[in-house]
Amino acid sequence: MEMIFDKSRPGRRCTRFSCADVPQAKAPDAKFLRRSACELPEVSELDVVRHFTNLSRLNFSVDTNFYPLGSCTMKYNPKFTEDLSRLEGFCRLHPILPQLKGGAARVQGALEVLYETECLLCEITGMDHFTLQPAAGAHGELTGVMLIAAYHRAKKRKRRYVIIPDSAHGTNPASAAIAGYEIINTPSNADGTMDLAALEEKLNDDVAAIMMTCPNTLGLFENQIDEIARLAHKVDALMYYDGANLNAILGHCRPGDLGFDVIHLNLHKTFSTPHGGGGPGAGPVGVKNKLEKFLPVSRVKKNHDGTFALDYNHPDSIGYLAHFYGNFLVILKAYAYILYLGREGLIRTARHAVLNANYVLARLKDHYDTAASRCMHECVLSAAPQTAHGVHALDIAKYLIDCGFHPPTIYFPLIVKEALMIEPTETESKETLDHFIDCMVRAACLAKENPEALKKAPLTTPVARLDETKAAREMNCASI
Ligand SMILES: *Cc1c(COP(=O)(O)O)cnc(C)c1O
Repeated sequence: MEMIFDKSRPGRRCTRFSCADVPQAKAPDAKFLRRSACELPEVSELDVVRHFTNLSRLNFSVDTNFYPLGSCTMKYNPKFTEDLSRLEGFCRLHPILPQLKGGAARVQGALEVLYETECLLCEITGMDHFTLQPAAGAHGELTGVMLIAAYHRAKKRKRRYVIIPDSAHGTNPASAAIAGYEIINTPSNADGTMDLAALEEKLNDDVAAIMMTCPNTLGLFENQIDEIARLAHKVDALMYYDGANLNAILGHCRPGDLGFDVIHLNLHKTFSTPHGGGGPGAGPVGVKNKLEKFLPVSRVKKNHDGTFALDYNHPDSIGYLAHFYGNFLVILKAYAYILYLGREGLIRTARHAVLNANYVLARLKDHYDTAASRCMHECVLSAAPQTAHGVHALDIAKYLIDCGFHPPTIYFPLIVKEALMIEPTETESKETLDHFIDCMVRAACLAKENPEALKKAPLTTPVARLDETKAAREMNCASI
């Protein structure tokens, strides 16, 4: 791949400025001037247009292809929410307005969207309050664990540990560690859910919280969740819910009713705002009443006269977690999506997501090892049988690229060898799933009959199989 810098030719230009017809400003102090040329590419307008148009055609997205990336809920993002987020009344608001004198009166619509989104998320999850500030799931986790720390601090006790199951997403231990806790890892049992006896051994009054995902990353509902919550609450450890997999249970059960005290959601997963490529996202955090006073400022409040305002009067708050009030336009898209689907639509969403994953699992279970015979919204297969022919999960993932699919998540969860984690989501048709399944079956056949063909994949991409470590460390295209 050529970079725009490779197209540079001395003196080639997109624009030339005409002579100034105003007096020249005084030159800035020499200490502010750069000492060497800035070495921008020297290219024509056509070079620029062609380069970036061609690059954009290499994009892979939900809008172009099936994207069954497990744990990421890459569902279709309806375009009407994009249209709404482009309305001038929303996208041209200045975030400082609500804090200016008389400013709140001019942003009532936006504040109402925030207020109502919090109410809807409370209703959907069974929590008492929400903050919409965090900008991603992991940011929400950090916020949540900081709230947990504030809770224990207010009770004048120091707790050292957070318990996390071995199937957890890596951000869980990372967030708890950043918030100052030591991590205790707890194993899954043969069914793939949390091992209750092992948990009981680790649980004592030095534990601040248990962080769980439900359904967990094996795509399985934690069927002993009420007992786990009871044990945690007995020692006043709090229950944290990683909501990345909420899509599986939408409208069917609520984390607040399952015994969780703090949760984060990924609006960019469950509530269909675009994601990938680093954002922007939104990771709202919901809490039970006992944690409310610690929530970040600012909070949106509804006044007695029905108007809305930002409220900073929360002396026990953990403070700001992000500028202003989070990624407003992302929140707006999720709000519109929730209202569009309504109660019945959200219930159907979960049903179809679970049905699609089970369909994939049922049709592939004779060709791959499986972590379980039934699943929730995603299924975890294993390419362990294929290793007998020297083929690994990575080879199958690369082959799927040639078939026109984004590969599933691989080598996660860590407790499944050669894991291939497939999350089809509710928005894919049976035809797409059948095509994907046929390719997965073909990959399993090739593993036996012609493993070299899998080892060479992908063949249809601009660059072939990369040395991924090298590609990440040496971002110089010439070397790949
Ligand atoms: C995606 C995910 C996260 C992290 O969320 P981000 O929005 O990517 O920061 C945490 N836990 C699980 C299980 C996830 O799938």
